Amino acid sequence: MTTIYPEASLDSLIESELPALVDCYKMLHAMPELSGQEEKTSAYLAGELRSLGFSVTVGVGKYCHKTWLGYGVVAVLANGPGPVVLVRADMDALPVEEKTCLPYASKVRACFRDAQEVGVMHACGHDVHVTSLIGTARMLARLKSSWQGTLVLIGQPGEEGGGGAQAMLDDGVFQLFPKPDCALALHVTSHLDAGRVAYVPGNFMASFTEVDITVHGVGAHGSAPERGKDPIVIAAQLILALQTIVSREISPIEPAVLTVGSIHGGTACNIIPDRVQLELSIRTYDDAVRDQMIASIKRIARGVALAAGVPEDRAPLVTRKAAHPANYNDPELTGRVAHSLTHALGEDNVVLAYPVMASEDFGTWGLGREIPTCMFWLGAADPVLFRESAASGVALPSHHSPHFAPLPEPTIRTGVKATTSVVLALLRGEDPPLKSNILQE
Ligand SMILES: [Zn+2]
Ligand SMILES: [Zn+2]
Repeated sequence: MTTIYPEASLDSLIESELPALVDCYKMLHAMPELSGQEEKTSAYLAGELRSLGFSVTVGVGKYCHKTWLGYGVVAVLANGPGPVVLVRADMDALPVEEKTCLPYASKVRACFRDAQEVGVMHACGHDVHVTSLIGTARMLARLKSSWQGTLVLIGQPGEEGGGGAQAMLDDGVFQLFPKPDCALALHVTSHLDAGRVAYVPGNFMASFTEVDITVHGVGAHGSAPERGKDPIVIAAQLILALQTIVSREISPIEPAVLTVGSIHGGTACNIIPDRVQLELSIRTYDDAVRDQMIASIKRIARGVALAAGVPEDRAPLVTRKAAHPANYNDPELTGRVAHSLTHALGEDNVVLAYPVMASEDFGTWGLGREIPTCMFWLGAADPVLFRESAASGVALPSHHSPHFAPLPEPTIRTGVKATTSVVLALLRGEDPPLKSNILQE
C-alpha cells in the first residue's frame, strides 16, 4: 500500500522526533570531546546510525599526530541505483571553559596537547551538526521508499585544526565506500536567527594555513642587553613588519589575513631569553597568494633578525604546519541547494550571504573541486536576542566563545528539515525542485 503524505508530512515526522533530538543535543553538549579524542561521540553516532539500518564503519582516520586515534564514522545506506550523496557532520569540541550557565552546560575537563588540563566545550556547535545528522538519517531511513540512490553519512573527527577530513580520506574513504557525486554540510552560526539558513555560491570560506616561527636570540642578563641579542624585541619588530605583507605586498582586491595568534618567550623580568615562539594563521582563497605570504614571512623574519645582529646560523626558523583548502561552494550544486532550501523553509528564511575569511576543513572532501561541495549556514541565535542585538549593535557570542549558545529546538528542527529536503531533492534528481513536496512511504 502506498501512503501519500501531504506537504506537511516531513514537518510532522520531524516534530515527532524533535523532543528526542533535543535531548540528544543536550547530552552531546554536556559530553564534549577534543579533536582526536572523540571516542564516545563517535560510538554514540555509530550506534544511532546502525539502529536505522545503515552499514556503519568506525575507527576511520589516519593522523600524523602520534597520540591521535581515528574516530571517523562512515555510514552507508544503499537504496538502489541513483546518485551518491555524502553528508558530513564534524564531531569535535574546543579547549574552552563553558560560561553559558545553561542547565546542560559542559563541566568536562580533558588533557589538551598532551599536557595541561582544560575545560572542554562545544563552542563551535558541532553537537548541533551531529544531532542534525542523526535527525536527517532518521527522516531519510523512514522515507526510504520515496528516494533511490546511496546515502553516505560521515561523522568527522578533528575539524578544529586536526585535519580530520584529510585523515579520513588518507584512510581510504573514497576507495572503500561509494565515492559521492556531491558532498553537503551545514554549520551553525549565531549571526543568523534560528529558523533561517544562508548560502553562498562560489568562494565561501578561506583556506587555512598554520605557520610557526622560532625567533632565536642570544640570552643575557636583563641588565646587560649589549651582551645578548634580545629575541623579544626582534619578535615585536617582526610582528609589526609582518603586517606589511597584506597591506603592501598583496593586491588590495585579493582577500588575505595574517594573524599572529600566540607569542611565548621568556621566564622572568630580569632575563633576556634566547628564543621566542610565534604561532600564525594565514587565510586566503588563492593558493598562490598563500605561498607568496609564506615566502614573505620567511624573508621578513630573516631580514629583521639579521638587522638586529643575530648571526646567520641563528636566523628565525619558519615552519609551515597544518593547512586545509578553501571551501568553494560549487555554483550549480549551490543553486540546487538554495532551490530546495527555499522550497522547504520559505523565501524569507533563506538568505544569500557573503564569503567569510573563517576556515573549515569540509572543503577537503571536494578533492580540489573534483567533487562538488556545498556548505550552508544554519541560524542558531535566539530570535528575540538576535533582534535586540541587531538594534543595539552588540553582537551575540559567536563561535569559539565560552558564551556561545545555540537555541536548541528551532535550530535542530531547521537543520534536520533543511538537510533532509536538500538530500531528498538531490537523490530524486529534482532540478528545479517539485512544487509540491509529496513524500511516499
Ligand atoms: Zn570552530
Ligand atoms: Zn566548526
